Amino acid sequence: MGLQGKRLTVRPELCTGCSICELICSFTKFRVFNPRKSMVRIHYNHKLGRLEKAVTCSQCGACMAACPSGAIRRGNGVVIIDHSRCGRCLTCVNTCPEGLIQVVDGTPHKCDLCGGIPQCVRYCVRGALNVVS
Ligand code: SF4
Ligand code: SF4
Repeated sequence: MGLQGKRLTVRPELCTGCSICELICSFTKFRVFNPRKSMVRIHYNHKLGRLEKAVTCSQCGACMAACPSGAIRRGNGVVIIDHSRCGRCLTCVNTCPEGLIQVVDGTPHKCDLCGGIPQCVRYCVRGALNVVS
């Protein structure tokens, strides 16, 4: 399935701040349940009972433009990192306007929409996360 122009969005009115999306993201990519390693970030104010900010990758390509090794490209419509070409300089991490590129063991990782079926979307029982064009 082509993913041209696709990106994640959040419907704030449906989000309960359960963090399942963050947990499933880190588990899918790194086999750990750690929201700090998630490439979806939910800032929910539990006291006020509302989502304050949700940060998801817009596939803008800023990291791709900044990479000095040409290791980031659009593949199947989404921006992906080719780790075989990556020099681990972490320029992309500092360039991402959303601060969503995670570094694990010195290697950068970004949202790739899980290749077509984002697990955060799949596991959000509220239907608060969606893929849109
Ligand atoms: S899984 Fe859905 S309801 Fe839970 S925090 Fe994420 S977006 Fe909100
Ligand atoms: S860390 Fe890798 S992918 Fe990121 S800018 Fe440097 S060479 Fe490119």
